[in-house]
Amino acid sequence: MTATAPITQDLITIPRKLPEDGLINLVGLTRNQLRDVLIAAGTPEKQAKMRVGQIWQWIYQKGVRDFDAMTNLAKDYRVMLAGNFEITLPEVVTRQLSEDGTRKYLVRISGGHEVEVVYIPEESRGTLCISSQVGCTLTCSFCHTGTQKLVRNLTAGEIIGQVMLVRDDLGEWPEPGRNPKDETRLLSNIVLMGMGEPLYNFENVRDAMKIAMDPEGISLSRRRITLSTSGVVPEIFRTAEEIGCLLAVSFHATTDEVRDRLVPINKRWNIAELLEALRTYPEVSNSERITFEYVMLKDVNDSDDDARRLVQLIKGIPAKINLIPFNEWPGAPYQRSSNNRIRAFADIIYKAGYASPIRTPRGEDIMAACGQLKSATERARKSKKQIDAEAGLS
Ligand code: SAH
Ligand code: SF4
Repeated sequence: MTATAPITQDLITIPRKLPEDGLINLVGLTRNQLRDVLIAAGTPEKQAKMRVGQIWQWIYQKGVRDFDAMTNLAKDYRVMLAGNFEITLPEVVTRQLSEDGTRKYLVRISGGHEVEVVYIPEESRGTLCISSQVGCTLTCSFCHTGTQKLVRNLTAGEIIGQVMLVRDDLGEWPEPGRNPKDETRLLSNIVLMGMGEPLYNFENVRDAMKIAMDPEGISLSRRRITLSTSGVVPEIFRTAEEIGCLLAVSFHATTDEVRDRLVPINKRWNIAELLEALRTYPEVSNSERITFEYVMLKDVNDSDDDARRLVQLIKGIPAKINLIPFNEWPGAPYQRSSNNRIRAFADIIYKAGYASPIRTPRGEDIMAACGQLKSATERARKSKKQIDAEAGLS
Protein backbone atom coordinates (compact mmCIF):
# COMPACT_ATOMS: atom_id res chain seq x y z
CA MET A 1 0.00 0.00 0.00
CA THR A 2 1.37 3.43 -0.80
CA ALA A 3 1.57 6.36 1.54
CA THR A 4 -1.57 7.97 0.14
CA ALA A 5 -3.71 4.89 -0.25
CA PRO A 6 -6.92 4.89 1.76
CA ILE A 7 -7.10 2.47 4.62
CA THR A 8 -10.00 0.17 4.37
CA GLN A 9 -11.06 -0.78 7.80
CA ASP A 10 -13.31 0.59 10.42
CA LEU A 11 -10.61 1.08 13.00
CA ILE A 12 -8.90 3.62 10.84
CA THR A 13 -11.59 6.06 9.88
CA ILE A 14 -9.59 9.12 10.83
CA PRO A 15 -7.30 10.46 8.13
CA ARG A 16 -3.95 8.86 8.21
CA LYS A 17 -1.28 11.19 9.52
CA LEU A 18 1.63 8.99 8.58
CA PRO A 19 3.77 8.19 6.89
CA GLU A 20 4.32 10.85 4.26
CA ASP A 21 7.03 9.07 2.43
CA GLY A 22 6.86 5.37 2.98
CA LEU A 23 6.45 2.95 5.80
CA ILE A 24 7.68 3.69 9.28
CA ASN A 25 10.11 1.15 10.65
CA LEU A 26 9.01 0.04 14.10
CA VAL A 27 12.42 -1.32 15.04
CA GLY A 28 14.18 1.06 17.40
CA LEU A 29 11.14 3.01 18.58
CA THR A 30 10.82 3.33 22.34
CA ARG A 31 7.58 2.13 23.88
CA ASN A 32 6.34 5.72 23.99
CA GLN A 33 7.26 6.37 20.39
CA LEU A 34 5.59 3.13 19.36
CA ARG A 35 2.46 4.19 21.19
CA ASP A 36 2.49 7.57 19.44
CA VAL A 37 2.77 6.13 15.94
CA LEU A 38 0.10 3.54 16.61
CA ILE A 39 -2.27 6.25 17.79
CA ALA A 40 -1.40 8.45 14.83
CA ALA A 41 -2.29 5.54 12.57
CA GLY A 42 -5.68 5.26 14.18
CA THR A 43 -5.32 2.98 17.17
CA PRO A 44 -7.78 4.16 19.83
CA GLU A 45 -5.92 5.65 22.77
CA LYS A 46 -7.42 3.31 25.29
CA GLN A 47 -6.16 0.29 23.35
CA ALA A 48 -2.75 1.71 22.66
CA LYS A 49 -0.89 0.38 25.67
CA MET A 50 -2.10 -3.13 25.08
CA ARG A 51 -1.22 -2.98 21.37
CA VAL A 52 2.25 -1.70 22.19
CA GLY A 53 2.76 -4.66 24.53
CA GLN A 54 1.55 -7.16 21.95
CA ILE A 55 3.55 -5.78 19.06
CA TRP A 56 6.64 -5.34 21.24
CA GLN A 57 6.59 -9.00 22.17
CA TRP A 58 6.20 -10.13 18.60
CA ILE A 59 9.13 -8.02 17.47
CA TYR A 60 11.60 -8.34 20.32
CA GLN A 61 10.68 -11.56 22.04
CA LYS A 62 9.66 -13.73 19.14
CA GLY A 63 11.64 -12.15 16.32
CA VAL A 64 8.62 -11.84 14.03
CA ARG A 65 8.95 -9.56 10.99
CA ASP A 66 5.64 -10.09 9.31
CA PHE A 67 2.53 -8.43 10.69
CA ASP A 68 0.43 -11.26 9.40
CA ALA A 69 2.12 -13.62 11.85
CA MET A 70 0.89 -11.54 14.81
CA THR A 71 -1.97 -13.86 15.46
CA ASN A 72 -3.30 -12.25 18.61
CA LEU A 73 -4.20 -9.14 16.61
CA ALA A 74 -7.36 -8.87 14.56
CA LYS A 75 -6.94 -9.33 10.83
CA ASP A 76 -8.03 -5.77 10.08
CA TYR A 77 -5.58 -4.39 12.55
CA ARG A 78 -2.76 -6.39 10.96
CA VAL A 79 -3.73 -4.97 7.57
CA MET A 80 -3.57 -1.48 9.02
CA LEU A 81 -0.13 -2.18 10.48
CA ALA A 82 1.18 -3.51 7.20
CA GLY A 83 -0.13 -0.41 5.43
CA ASN A 84 1.70 1.96 7.73
CA PHE A 85 4.68 0.20 9.16
CA GLU A 86 7.50 -2.18 8.53
CA ILE A 87 9.86 -4.21 10.68
CA THR A 88 13.22 -4.06 9.00
CA LEU A 89 16.81 -4.59 9.99
CA PRO A 90 20.04 -3.45 8.41
CA GLU A 91 21.08 -5.70 5.58
CA VAL A 92 23.94 -8.18 6.01
CA VAL A 93 26.34 -7.68 3.10
CA THR A 94 28.98 -10.22 4.07
CA ARG A 95 29.58 -12.60 6.91
CA GLN A 96 33.05 -13.85 7.66
CA LEU A 97 33.86 -16.71 9.97
CA SER A 98 37.21 -16.77 11.76
CA GLU A 99 39.13 -19.94 12.57
CA ASP A 100 38.38 -19.25 16.23
CA GLY A 101 34.63 -19.06 15.67
CA THR A 102 34.39 -15.27 15.69
CA ARG A 103 31.89 -13.98 13.16
CA LYS A 104 32.23 -10.59 11.53
CA TYR A 105 29.29 -9.09 9.70
CA LEU A 106 29.48 -6.22 7.32
CA VAL A 107 26.11 -4.54 7.57
CA ARG A 108 24.57 -1.98 5.27
CA ILE A 109 22.37 0.76 6.65
CA SER A 110 20.28 3.30 4.81
CA GLY A 111 22.24 5.68 2.63
CA GLY A 112 24.49 2.78 1.64
CA HIS A 113 26.81 3.19 4.61
CA GLU A 114 28.34 0.17 6.21
CA VAL A 115 29.32 -0.82 9.73
CA GLU A 116 30.86 -3.90 11.23
CA VAL A 117 29.45 -6.14 13.91
CA VAL A 118 31.46 -8.87 15.60
CA TYR A 119 30.20 -11.93 17.46
CA ILE A 120 32.69 -13.59 19.80
CA PRO A 121 31.72 -16.99 21.21
CA GLU A 122 33.38 -18.04 24.44
CA GLU A 123 32.88 -21.00 26.69
CA SER A 124 30.47 -19.43 29.12
CA ARG A 125 29.11 -16.56 27.06
CA GLY A 126 28.74 -15.06 23.61
CA THR A 127 29.58 -11.42 23.23
CA LEU A 128 28.34 -9.17 20.49
CA CYS A 129 30.41 -6.11 19.70
CA ILE A 130 28.21 -3.50 18.08
CA SER A 131 28.83 -0.16 16.42
CA SER A 132 27.22 3.17 17.29
CA GLN A 133 28.47 5.39 14.47
CA VAL A 134 29.72 5.08 10.91
CA GLY A 135 33.32 6.09 11.47
CA CYS A 136 34.23 8.26 14.43
CA THR A 137 34.85 11.97 14.90
CA LEU A 138 37.62 11.24 17.33
CA THR A 139 41.06 10.43 16.07
CA CYS A 140 42.73 8.12 18.54
CA SER A 141 46.06 7.55 16.86
CA PHE A 142 46.19 3.76 17.41
CA CYS A 143 42.64 3.06 16.19
CA HIS A 144 41.76 2.03 12.69
CA THR A 145 38.23 3.39 12.98
CA GLY A 146 39.74 6.73 13.99
CA THR A 147 41.26 7.05 10.55
CA GLN A 148 37.78 7.11 9.07
CA LYS A 149 35.80 10.32 9.17
CA LEU A 150 32.42 10.28 10.81
CA VAL A 151 29.75 9.65 8.26
CA ARG A 152 26.79 9.65 10.59
CA ASN A 153 25.30 8.49 13.85
CA LEU A 154 23.38 5.24 13.74
CA THR A 155 19.71 5.38 14.62
CA ALA A 156 18.39 3.42 17.59
CA GLY A 157 16.87 0.97 15.10
CA GLU A 158 20.20 0.44 13.40
CA ILE A 159 21.86 -0.18 16.75
CA ILE A 160 19.33 -2.68 18.12
CA GLY A 161 19.01 -4.06 14.58
CA GLN A 162 22.60 -5.32 14.84
CA VAL A 163 21.60 -7.42 17.84
CA MET A 164 18.51 -8.73 16.09
CA LEU A 165 20.24 -9.70 12.87
CA VAL A 166 22.86 -11.65 14.74
CA ARG A 167 20.14 -13.41 16.70
CA ASP A 168 18.66 -14.29 13.31
CA ASP A 169 21.98 -15.69 12.17
CA LEU A 170 22.44 -17.68 15.38
CA GLY A 171 18.85 -18.91 15.19
CA GLU A 172 18.28 -17.59 18.67
CA TRP A 173 14.68 -16.49 18.86
CA PRO A 174 13.06 -18.53 21.57
CA GLU A 175 10.47 -21.17 21.01
CA PRO A 176 7.05 -19.93 22.08
CA GLY A 177 6.80 -19.83 25.84
CA ARG A 178 10.50 -20.42 26.40
CA ASN A 179 12.77 -17.59 27.33
CA PRO A 180 16.44 -18.49 27.56
CA LYS A 181 18.38 -17.77 30.70
CA ASP A 182 21.19 -15.26 30.29
CA GLU A 183 23.91 -17.80 30.96
CA THR A 184 22.73 -20.26 28.35
CA ARG A 185 22.23 -17.79 25.56
CA LEU A 186 24.44 -17.81 22.49
CA LEU A 187 24.25 -14.02 22.47
CA SER A 188 24.49 -13.27 26.18
CA ASN A 189 26.47 -10.03 26.29
CA ILE A 190 26.66 -6.81 24.35
CA VAL A 191 29.65 -4.53 24.21
CA LEU A 192 29.50 -1.11 22.58
CA MET A 193 33.05 -1.40 21.38
CA GLY A 194 32.67 -1.42 17.64
CA MET A 195 32.92 1.62 15.45
CA GLY A 196 32.23 5.01 16.92
CA GLU A 197 32.06 6.82 20.22
CA PRO A 198 28.76 5.76 21.82
CA LEU A 199 28.54 8.81 24.04
CA TYR A 200 28.56 11.08 21.01
CA ASN A 201 25.34 9.37 19.99
CA PHE A 202 23.85 9.21 23.43
CA GLU A 203 20.08 9.20 22.86
CA ASN A 204 20.11 6.57 20.16
CA VAL A 205 22.45 4.32 22.13
CA ARG A 206 20.32 4.75 25.23
CA ASP A 207 17.07 3.96 23.43
CA ALA A 208 18.57 0.90 21.75
CA MET A 209 19.98 -0.44 25.02
CA LYS A 210 16.67 0.15 26.77
CA ILE A 211 15.10 -2.04 24.12
CA ALA A 212 17.77 -4.72 24.64
CA MET A 213 17.07 -4.68 28.39
CA ASP A 214 13.28 -4.59 28.22
CA PRO A 215 11.99 -7.63 30.13
CA GLU A 216 9.26 -8.30 27.58
CA GLY A 217 11.67 -8.46 24.71
CA ILE A 218 15.32 -9.35 24.29
CA SER A 219 15.61 -9.01 28.02
CA LEU A 220 19.34 -8.82 28.60
CA SER A 221 20.43 -7.81 32.06
CA ARG A 222 22.02 -4.37 32.28
CA ARG A 223 25.03 -6.10 33.77
CA ARG A 224 25.56 -7.88 30.49
CA ILE A 225 25.90 -4.68 28.52
CA THR A 226 29.16 -2.74 28.53
CA LEU A 227 29.51 0.67 26.99
CA SER A 228 33.03 1.73 26.13
CA THR A 229 33.88 5.40 25.95
CA SER A 230 37.03 7.28 25.18
CA GLY A 231 36.07 9.68 27.98
CA VAL A 232 33.16 11.98 27.12
CA VAL A 233 32.98 13.21 30.68
CA PRO A 234 29.64 15.07 30.70
CA GLU A 235 27.81 12.04 29.33
CA ILE A 236 29.26 9.58 31.84
CA PHE A 237 26.88 10.72 34.55
CA ARG A 238 23.95 10.45 32.15
CA THR A 239 25.01 6.94 31.23
CA ALA A 240 24.85 5.95 34.88
CA GLU A 241 21.45 7.55 35.34
CA GLU A 242 19.71 6.79 32.08
CA ILE A 243 21.21 3.46 30.98
CA GLY A 244 22.80 1.93 34.06
CA CYS A 245 24.90 -0.56 32.13
CA LEU A 246 28.52 -1.42 32.85
CA LEU A 247 31.12 1.09 31.78
CA ALA A 248 34.49 0.62 30.14
CA VAL A 249 36.83 3.48 29.54
CA SER A 250 39.61 3.68 27.01
CA PHE A 251 42.26 4.87 29.39
CA HIS A 252 45.46 3.87 27.61
CA ALA A 253 47.91 6.26 29.28
CA THR A 254 48.98 7.46 32.69
CA THR A 255 50.10 11.00 31.91
CA ASP A 256 48.17 13.72 30.14
CA GLU A 257 51.06 14.23 27.80
CA VAL A 258 50.85 10.67 26.43
CA ARG A 259 47.06 10.47 26.64
CA ASP A 260 46.76 13.70 24.64
CA ARG A 261 48.58 11.94 21.83
CA LEU A 262 46.80 8.60 22.03
CA VAL A 263 43.26 9.69 22.88
CA PRO A 264 42.98 13.32 21.76
CA ILE A 265 39.69 13.86 23.60
CA ASN A 266 41.98 14.06 26.63
CA LYS A 267 42.78 17.62 25.60
CA ARG A 268 39.15 18.45 26.28
CA TRP A 269 38.67 16.37 29.45
CA ASN A 270 41.94 15.35 31.01
CA ILE A 271 42.80 12.39 33.21
CA ALA A 272 41.88 14.13 36.46
CA GLU A 273 38.44 15.18 35.16
CA LEU A 274 37.82 11.73 33.73
CA LEU A 275 38.72 10.01 36.98
CA GLU A 276 36.44 12.30 38.91
CA ALA A 277 33.50 11.31 36.71
CA LEU A 278 34.42 7.63 37.03
CA ARG A 279 34.48 7.77 40.79
CA THR A 280 30.77 8.49 40.92
CA TYR A 281 29.79 5.99 38.25
CA PRO A 282 29.52 2.73 40.19
CA GLU A 283 27.38 4.35 42.85
CA VAL A 284 24.98 6.14 40.55
CA SER A 285 24.60 3.26 38.11
CA ASN A 286 24.61 0.64 40.84
CA SER A 287 27.14 -1.37 38.86
CA GLU A 288 30.07 -3.14 40.41
CA ARG A 289 33.20 -1.96 38.72
CA ILE A 290 34.62 -0.08 35.84
CA THR A 291 36.76 -1.68 33.18
CA PHE A 292 39.85 0.30 32.31
CA GLU A 293 40.94 -0.59 28.81
CA TYR A 294 44.62 -0.19 28.22
CA VAL A 295 46.12 -0.86 24.82
CA MET A 296 49.71 -2.07 25.05
CA LEU A 297 51.91 -0.03 22.72
CA LYS A 298 55.59 -0.82 22.60
CA ASP A 299 57.72 1.85 24.27
CA VAL A 300 54.81 4.29 24.41
CA ASN A 301 52.74 3.40 27.49
CA ASP A 302 53.98 0.00 28.63
CA SER A 303 56.71 0.65 31.21
CA ASP A 304 56.72 -0.51 34.83
CA ASP A 305 56.40 3.13 35.81
CA ASP A 306 53.22 3.37 33.76
CA ALA A 307 51.81 0.34 35.55
CA ARG A 308 52.62 1.85 38.94
CA ARG A 309 51.15 5.21 38.00
CA LEU A 310 48.03 3.49 36.74
CA VAL A 311 47.31 1.79 40.04
CA GLN A 312 47.93 5.06 41.88
CA LEU A 313 45.54 6.94 39.63
CA ILE A 314 42.65 4.55 39.95
CA LYS A 315 42.96 4.04 43.68
CA GLY A 316 39.56 3.94 45.29
CA ILE A 317 37.67 3.12 42.09
CA PRO A 318 36.27 -0.42 41.88
CA ALA A 319 38.06 -1.49 38.73
CA LYS A 320 39.39 -4.17 36.50
CA ILE A 321 42.11 -3.41 34.00
CA ASN A 322 41.77 -4.99 30.63
CA LEU A 323 45.10 -5.07 28.84
CA ILE A 324 44.66 -5.11 25.08
CA PRO A 325 47.65 -6.15 23.00
CA PHE A 326 47.75 -3.62 20.20
CA ASN A 327 46.15 -4.96 17.05
CA GLU A 328 48.05 -3.84 14.05
CA TRP A 329 46.46 -2.50 10.91
CA PRO A 330 48.04 -1.36 7.66
CA GLY A 331 49.86 1.92 8.18
CA ALA A 332 49.54 1.91 11.98
CA PRO A 333 52.18 4.05 13.67
CA TYR A 334 52.64 1.70 16.64
CA GLN A 335 53.79 -1.78 17.51
CA ARG A 336 52.43 -4.28 19.99
CA SER A 337 54.33 -4.62 23.25
CA SER A 338 56.12 -7.94 23.68
CA ASN A 339 54.36 -10.70 25.59
CA ASN A 340 56.93 -10.48 28.37
CA ARG A 341 56.36 -6.75 28.72
CA ILE A 342 52.60 -7.21 28.84
CA ARG A 343 52.95 -9.91 31.49
CA ALA A 344 55.28 -7.76 33.61
CA PHE A 345 52.83 -4.86 33.36
CA ALA A 346 49.91 -7.14 34.27
CA ASP A 347 51.83 -8.48 37.24
CA ILE A 348 52.33 -5.06 38.82
CA ILE A 349 48.63 -4.33 38.51
CA TYR A 350 47.63 -7.73 39.79
CA LYS A 351 49.88 -7.38 42.84
CA ALA A 352 48.22 -4.06 43.60
CA GLY A 353 44.97 -5.97 43.95
CA TYR A 354 43.28 -5.50 40.58
CA ALA A 355 42.20 -8.11 38.09
CA SER A 356 44.33 -7.55 35.01
CA PRO A 357 43.21 -9.90 32.26
CA ILE A 358 45.09 -9.74 28.99
CA ARG A 359 42.54 -9.67 26.20
CA THR A 360 43.14 -12.42 23.70
CA PRO A 361 42.79 -10.95 20.25
CA ARG A 362 39.89 -12.66 18.53
CA GLY A 363 39.16 -12.94 14.87
CA GLU A 364 42.47 -11.45 13.80
CA ASP A 365 42.46 -13.44 10.56
CA ILE A 366 39.33 -11.58 9.49
CA MET A 367 40.39 -8.17 10.88
CA ALA A 368 37.70 -8.37 13.53
CA ALA A 369 39.87 -7.55 16.54
CA CYS A 370 39.54 -4.35 18.57
CA GLY A 371 40.43 -1.28 16.63
CA GLN A 372 40.62 -3.11 13.32
CA LEU A 373 37.10 -2.41 12.26
CA LYS A 374 36.57 -0.30 9.25
CA SER A 375 34.14 -0.89 6.47
CA ALA A 376 35.33 -1.64 3.01
CA THR A 377 33.39 1.14 1.34
CA GLU A 378 34.54 3.92 3.60
CA ARG A 379 38.20 3.91 2.89
CA ALA A 380 38.80 7.61 3.29
CA ARG A 381 41.99 6.60 4.97
CA LYS A 382 44.38 9.20 6.16
CA SER A 383 47.96 8.84 5.04
CA LYS A 384 50.45 7.29 7.39
CA LYS A 385 52.21 10.63 7.48
CA GLN A 386 49.08 12.38 8.66
CA ILE A 387 48.48 9.80 11.39
CA ASP A 388 52.08 10.01 12.53
CA ALA A 389 51.84 13.77 12.67
CA GLU A 390 48.70 13.65 14.79
CA ALA A 391 50.30 11.10 17.09
CA GLY A 392 53.29 13.39 17.47
CA LEU A 393 55.57 10.81 15.92
CA SER A 394 56.99 12.88 13.13
N1 SAH B 1 34.94 4.55 20.85
C1 SAH B 1 34.85 3.76 22.00
C2 SAH B 1 34.50 2.33 21.72
C3 SAH B 1 35.14 1.66 20.52
S1 SAH B 1 36.81 1.16 20.62
C4 SAH B 1 36.13 3.84 22.79
O1 SAH B 1 37.11 4.35 22.27
O2 SAH B 1 36.13 3.40 23.93
C5 SAH B 1 36.88 -0.29 21.62
C6 SAH B 1 38.24 -0.46 22.31
O3 SAH B 1 39.27 -0.89 21.38
C7 SAH B 1 38.75 0.84 22.91
O4 SAH B 1 39.29 0.65 24.18
C8 SAH B 1 39.82 1.24 21.92
O5 SAH B 1 40.68 2.14 22.50
C9 SAH B 1 40.42 -0.09 21.57
N2 SAH B 1 41.23 -0.07 20.36
C10 SAH B 1 41.11 0.77 19.33
N3 SAH B 1 42.04 0.48 18.39
C11 SAH B 1 42.76 -0.55 18.86
C12 SAH B 1 43.84 -1.32 18.33
N4 SAH B 1 44.36 -1.06 17.14
N5 SAH B 1 44.32 -2.33 19.07
C13 SAH B 1 43.76 -2.61 20.27
N6 SAH B 1 42.74 -1.95 20.80
C14 SAH B 1 42.24 -0.91 20.11
FE1 SF4 C 1 36.79 6.56 18.03
FE2 SF4 C 1 37.08 4.80 20.06
FE3 SF4 C 1 38.59 4.59 17.86
FE4 SF4 C 1 38.98 6.59 19.57
S1 SF4 C 1 39.27 4.37 19.98
S2 SF4 C 1 38.90 6.76 17.33
S3 SF4 C 1 36.90 7.03 20.23
S4 SF4 C 1 36.37 4.37 17.93
